[in-house]
Amino acid sequence: MLDRWDAVIVGAGHNGLVAAAYLARAGLRVLVLERRSRVGGASATEEVFPGFRVSTAAYLCSLFPERLIRELDLPRYGYHVYAKDPAFFTPFPDGRFLLFWQDQKRTCGEIAKFSRRDAETYPAYEAHLEQLAQWVEQILWRPPPNLARMRARDLWEFGELGWAILRLEEPARVSLLKLLAQSAADFLESWFESEEVKVTLATDGVIGTAGGPRTPGTAYVLLHHVMGKVNGHRGLWGFVRGGMGALSEAIAAAARAAGVRIRTETEVQRILVRDGRVLGVGLANGEEIRARCVLSNADPKRTFLTLVGESELDPEFVHQVKAIRMSGYAMKINLALDGLPSFKAQPGTHLMPHHRTTIHICPDMDYIERAWDEAKYGRPSSFPMLEITIPTTYDDSLAPPGKHIMGIFLQYAPYRLREGDWRAMKEAYADRVMDLIEEYAPGFKDRILDRHVLSPQDLEEEFGLTGGNIFHGDMSADQLFAFRPVPGWARYRTPIRGLYLCGAGTHPGGGVMGLPGYHAAREVLRDWRRRRV
Ligand SMILES: Cc1cc2nc3c(=O)[nH]c(=O)nc-3n(C[C@H](O)[C@H](O)[C@H](O)COP(=O)(O)OP(=O)(O)OC[C@H]3O[C@@H](n4cnc5c(N)ncnc54)[C@H](O)[C@@H]3O)c2cc1C
Repeated sequence: MLDRWDAVIVGAGHNGLVAAAYLARAGLRVLVLERRSRVGGASATEEVFPGFRVSTAAYLCSLFPERLIRELDLPRYGYHVYAKDPAFFTPFPDGRFLLFWQDQKRTCGEIAKFSRRDAETYPAYEAHLEQLAQWVEQILWRPPPNLARMRARDLWEFGELGWAILRLEEPARVSLLKLLAQSAADFLESWFESEEVKVTLATDGVIGTAGGPRTPGTAYVLLHHVMGKVNGHRGLWGFVRGGMGALSEAIAAAARAAGVRIRTETEVQRILVRDGRVLGVGLANGEEIRARCVLSNADPKRTFLTLVGESELDPEFVHQVKAIRMSGYAMKINLALDGLPSFKAQPGTHLMPHHRTTIHICPDMDYIERAWDEAKYGRPSSFPMLEITIPTTYDDSLAPPGKHIMGIFLQYAPYRLREGDWRAMKEAYADRVMDLIEEYAPGFKDRILDRHVLSPQDLEEEFGLTGGNIFHGDMSADQLFAFRPVPGWARYRTPIRGLYLCGAGTHPGGGVMGLPGYHAAREVLRDWRRRRV
């Protein structure tokens, strides 16, 4: 065992693993410490029911860039994604339904069932999103400038950004700037007339968000969810073969191949600091590990308020960290099923295209907005928005023959309840969700073999997500880019010399994207080469 590592990484979430792999490939001796029994954090596959391998938290992949897949050679370590096609299925209470396909013409045919005008508009809408996504993509690949202490490099980067905006053609330039402050509803209403089309697309604007489709800023969240790619196709999402944990395992394998050591069931209790400089980490078992630098994959609140401790930090910085909005509104229910559900809108229990989609239970925009209204006052939505997936329709290795896994991502389930306690009420609330699905798919409840419910409180306890927030902090304009995690500290460094952040609480934020880990490693290496670590 080394007595001093070059870098210790707190947490083996997918971002921590990406950072570890890049650091080790640059020649650093890297140790990763993970409190759970497996790697991956919220991107994990777990056998929660015997014989069923479940993506317990994250369930779909799109944001993880092809460049990282290539550079880390992930296919060599088993990484493979099944492109989700059709993409969406929204059944409506009157028996109608809407399907979105990878093939634009087919999608337009579906949209025409609801509005001819919208069907004609849809190709222009997709082209517009493509233009915006290309622009945002550039932002994802650069660490943000420092707003609080501007130096030449920061000014230059701001200038480049401004120039890139000016170079955009109209109407993309205005649209991009409006998008940051706009609601998903306003954005979509400027394109479409059909409620059915708008609500199907609006879900991307509210996933993981503290807000409804009419909340300002949700238009950007929508863009965030459509800027990824699967197999080169923009906006497409897919199922990772072997579940989301297989992606994390592939990154871990690439990291190990580069020399990284990973210890699971190893909880870091403290990040050791002396005179404003990091010394290493102290484990829950009393062991101390020394390192020249420490990267924390834990969220910013956990990192600074729990692991470092307020006494080591400037009170103004502590104040800013405490002010990060990090209260979650999502819940996940995983089911083992005896067979496929039969939807009223598309009856049949044999495998049909709509089973292979993201199935949305939310018939119109007001439905989601009302669901949010209840949650913002601390009550779980009586009629929540559901995003349902059945990964076994692509990957039959996940469950015994003939059986299926269903993942239900639910909004809104507020972490902070006005009354009651999630521990006491989560199963009763999950019963209510089963009843809701039963309304759309009669006989569904009889197919349930087993159930695993993760309330926001469970997300915090199981995965270490403070406040149950799936993105390590809200993805609103005031908490993105140069403001993430707090203004002045968006470049992965922290006020403690040698301590860096590498998780979703940093730019470009949440989702299984790998870029926070990638950028953090690059900034560490920059300091390393200049002997600043
Ligand atoms: C229910 C749910 C569904 C989601 N669905 C999707 C989806 O479908 N697609 C998508 O792209 N994104 C999805 N997300 C978001 C995405 O999963 C997260 O934003 C992303 O995984 C965060 O990655 P990370 O590596 O930054 O952090 P995490 O995955 O949170 O990893 C941090 C790691 O640090 C460890 N850790 C924390 N403290 C310590 C300590 N003291 N000592 C040792 N280890 C520690 C934790 O155990 C954890 O393993 C979902 C999230 C949730 C919760």
